[in-house]
Amino acid sequence: PGGRDGEVSKAQRAAAASEEVGGQPTIFSKIIDRTIPATILYEDDKCLVFRDVAPQAPVHFLVIPKLPIPRISRVGPQDTELLGHLLVVAARTAQAEGLADGYRLVINDGKHGAQSVYHLHLHVLGGRQMSWPPG
Ligand code: IMP
Repeated sequence: PGGRDGEVSKAQRAAAASEEVGGQPTIFSKIIDRTIPATILYEDDKCLVFRDVAPQAPVHFLVIPKLPIPRISRVGPQDTELLGHLLVVAARTAQAEGLADGYRLVINDGKHGAQSVYHLHLHVLGGRQMSWPPG
């Protein structure tokens, strides 16, 4: 129906995301709905930022959309604004965390990317010197 395409497609995408993770809510959905605890650094209507439970740097936090997009390879043109928002929130939170000397942003995708949680997330790592190439 006209005018409701956005909502319909959101529901369809949530269903597709749920199917991709075997019908089970991911650990990040549970953090969003507060079923499991997390150290939350920032939240708004579109995203949530919390500390990684197994930090790989002195500062390591994750930026996730509330929309359950399973992985970066599943995004489309309709996500352009949301993805830009996640990057801006990542940069602002990095600044709030005192990462004035820089930091690294990482998105792991799928098997070769070593993704372990199938709810899109940006890693922000800082507080130490990074090296390149990554492992
Ligand atoms: P991926 O390998 O890119 O999918 O990263 C998943 C990240 O989520 C890893 O860095 C985990 O340490 C982190 N993680 C998994 N479970 C939790 C949790 O319950 N709270 C916070 N971070 C988590």
